[in-house]
Amino acid sequence: MKISSVEEWPFKANKPLIISGPCSAETEEQVHATASALSQTGKVQLFRAGIWKPRTRPNSFEGVGAVGLKWLVDAGKAHHLPTTTEVANAQHVELALKAGVDVLWIGARTTVNPFSVQEIADALKGTDIPVIVKNPINPDLQLWIGAIERLVLNGITKVMAMHRGFSSNLPSPYRNIPMWEIPIALKAEIPGLPILCDPSHICGNRHMLASVAQKAMDLGLHGLMLESHPTPDEAWSDAKQQVTPANFDKLIKSLHLRSTETASQEVADRLHSLRSKIDAIDDGLLRLLAQRFDLIDQIGEYKKENDLTILQLERWKEILTSRTESAKSLNIPEEFMAKYLEFMHKESIKVQGKIMNKGKEDQLIW
Ligand code: PEP
Ligand code: MN
Repeated sequence: MKISSVEEWPFKANKPLIISGPCSAETEEQVHATASALSQTGKVQLFRAGIWKPRTRPNSFEGVGAVGLKWLVDAGKAHHLPTTTEVANAQHVELALKAGVDVLWIGARTTVNPFSVQEIADALKGTDIPVIVKNPINPDLQLWIGAIERLVLNGITKVMAMHRGFSSNLPSPYRNIPMWEIPIALKAEIPGLPILCDPSHICGNRHMLASVAQKAMDLGLHGLMLESHPTPDEAWSDAKQQVTPANFDKLIKSLHLRSTETASQEVADRLHSLRSKIDAIDDGLLRLLAQRFDLIDQIGEYKKENDLTILQLERWKEILTSRTESAKSLNIPEEFMAKYLEFMHKESIKVQGKIMNKGKEDQLIW
């Protein structure tokens, strides 16, 4: 997939790329005041404001609409900040391009719908405006990739992804649970794709923003989007998660930014030596696992010959207790060990089931 490198973006998309601004443009004064305060921090590379707000229920504030585009673009110009806003259909794209917005983003509620994403991609054909694609509301990596592909296939190659967490009905301290493995998998699937993180919509509160932002930086994500508002408690949308520009500044200052590249030869050598040890251990672990599987086969054959059941409850209980205890004394995390044992046990039962039912494999569902 052809993704342009960030050097080709029409403004400095330095790492970390920091985007900030209000959840929604509310009034011309509010947009200008936020841009002014944010530009004074010197930490913002892209100024955001939602113009059309996709809301769960009607009759909540649904954005000021097209009139706000001028406020956004004018405020950006006045304070030397390129601008970005959310588009959800072809008409939004047309109006945002006409107003001179520099970067567009596709929101989580739009990424879920291939029809909407295709409509946006078609409206963008022939332009080379950068687009940020937020993850879909549901944890579906293929849907996220699909949205990116629809843009790239239409010649939009200045594309970034943005991780904003995933909706879940399970109890959680997050508004949208991060499930970091999904952006990590995206990174592996599309290696050149810069991925940003949106701690504001992951957290849904202020007190967890810094730790989520730090985690995103520790994982080597390309940048952050944080919502800020001159008077967050009075914001017309997402009041609980927005911070003042001053607190945004503090948050960014508090981050420890680690390098993804190794700084010196000494650091590189040390890392290399530690990684070689891991490689050797993994090699040994795999050999032991292969031996363990071989023994499972032998036990399966033996049980078959002697007409014994696969599951021998006492033996399984004994394995669970003894391995859990040994793991504890070796400082192996309990949760990891529980998962490992359950996984291994399931696999053993499956292998032995196949042995006992040789010739009837196609009737087995495990
Ligand atoms: C937003 O950025 O204001 C927004 C609506 O985000 P999301 O699409 O991630 O919910
Ligand atoms: Mn918001």
